[in-house]
Amino acid sequence: MAAELMDGVAVARAVREDVARGVADLVARGVTPGLAVVLVGEDPASTVYVRNKGKACEEAGMRSVTIRMPATTSQGELLAQVDALNADPAIHGILVQMPLPPQCSADEVIRRIDPAKDVDGFHPVNAGRLLIGDPDGFAPCTPAGVMELLRRYDVPTKGAEVVVIGRSNIVGKPMGALMIQPGVDATVTTCHSRTRDLAGHARRADILVAAIGRARFVTADMVKPGATVIDVGINRVEEPRSKTGYVLAGDVDFAAVREVAGRITPVPGGVGPLTIAMLLKNTLRAASRVAP
Ligand code: NDP
Repeated sequence: MAAELMDGVAVARAVREDVARGVADLVARGVTPGLAVVLVGEDPASTVYVRNKGKACEEAGMRSVTIRMPATTSQGELLAQVDALNADPAIHGILVQMPLPPQCSADEVIRRIDPAKDVDGFHPVNAGRLLIGDPDGFAPCTPAGVMELLRRYDVPTKGAEVVVIGRSNIVGKPMGALMIQPGVDATVTTCHSRTRDLAGHARRADILVAAIGRARFVTADMVKPGATVIDVGINRVEEPRSKTGYVLAGDVDFAAVREVAGRITPVPGGVGPLTIAMLLKNTLRAASRVAP
């Protein structure tokens, strides 16, 4: 029997509706949550993401500020912009869209953002808070979105075997950290490009999270029957018959894995929409802390 589809669009909508209610409460108390997104250069994909973030913000009743800086922006100019946003009381969340041009250091920029406004959850202080289970931190939005999806679909995690493929700072590592939090209580294995017998690990998973960046990497023989398969990957695959010349594919071979898994996220429409929803949720939390 084909797996149940986990509808990230519907879950993201529900999260955004919750956020909009929270925003309305805050506005009534005199605080309008504000998110600033800094875009350096004109990378086409980043421009689309930034536009979508701004639109989602406004739909939730938040203030959205987009700061566009030229591709020639120096590190000093970018840090000065971050400092100005850190000091601006109308801005509660700051996001610097990656990738940055080569003359800018992403690490230094991330470290410059006030951790209380780091709604992307990439600052080392927030990474540390996540590891020690401090609820005041911000978790990175994509793995936080995966947790929201699992909760809303009542996927049991207590004692479950979770295998995460990928160990990036923005998805794989925080994903594992969230899964071992008390209350979630999964047992986590993190796989990467040096893992021996990756398929053997994957086959043990009750919940398999793929965050690799390789189209259709996870095949049906790597999945335990009935497992929950979460596909974080978004990859462009050439497809001459499509109008754009490409199609989007996840890190999971959806058509084949769907026949084995118990639940599965599609691409697009699975994890992707939740990332922006969780960004709004983090921004609301940041603003709530300064509300009277
Ligand atoms: P990274 O490139 O930073 O990390 C990829 C990870 O996959 C690395 O840890 C790497 O291992 C591992 N990997 C690569 N090749 C293999 C292999 N052959 N076998 C085993 N492991 C391998 O990617 P991200 O974490 O940033 O993103 C992963 C995917 O998720 C991408 O497709 C990205 O587009 C998507 N994404 C989607 C988001 C959303 O909103 N839905 C948000 C963020 C990302 P090693 O460390 O050893 O090199």
